[in-house]
Amino acid sequence: MRHITIMDVPFLFTTQKAFSSLLAERIEKKLKTFVITANPEIVMMAKENPAIKENVKRATYVVADGIGIIKASQLLNNPLPERVTGYDTMMQLLPIADKRSYRIFLLGAQQETLEKTENALKNRYSSIQIVGKHHGFFEMTSKHVTDQIMEASPDITFVALGAPRQEEWIARNLSALPNGLYIGVGGSFDVIAG
Ligand code: UDP
Repeated sequence: MRHITIMDVPFLFTTQKAFSSLLAERIEKKLKTFVITANPEIVMMAKENPAIKENVKRATYVVADGIGIIKASQLLNNPLPERVTGYDTMMQLLPIADKRSYRIFLLGAQQETLEKTENALKNRYSSIQIVGKHHGFFEMTSKHVTDQIMEASPDITFVALGAPRQEEWIARNLSALPNGLYIGVGGSFDVIAG
């Protein structure tokens, strides 16, 4: 697949819609997928912090979440088509998940926000399967959370711990996690909870 490397970070050439379809295909095939929607702050952090750079390297796909990345690609005469965000990807995957009865795990945010998010999704998508959830305030190394995900065996885990914590958590735990999609979605639960 075509990429453009900006400050050592390989960004996938894709549109928001094409990317959601690609992820849906990988879910169908039961593959393990780690997605980072990277903004300029993450690119700068990766440059300065080797641990963050390592996390970025472990991602299956890095997509451009920020106009600054798009602008940089234009300056390099290799323009990325558009922004691809965690929130929009989540919003496009949810109706597919509803139709195909995918198993969803919600990880992150405050407990109250998490519960409101679960209720909002259940109200909006009648067939959605939320197979587990956990708030976002736990030790990075806690086996309790990965065990819970293993048990729930989700097709999609939305990880809303904020950047770069969510990417660090996914990268650290990916090998212990079951196959499926793991994507950092930042403050999306706060938006959905209203
Ligand atoms: N959050 C969390 N655990 C933490 C820190 C933050 O679950 O240790 C949650 C926070 O409650 C919020 C989400 O992460 O729901 C996104 O936070 P923020 O808006 O700071 O992240 P960004 O969207 O900028 O990545």
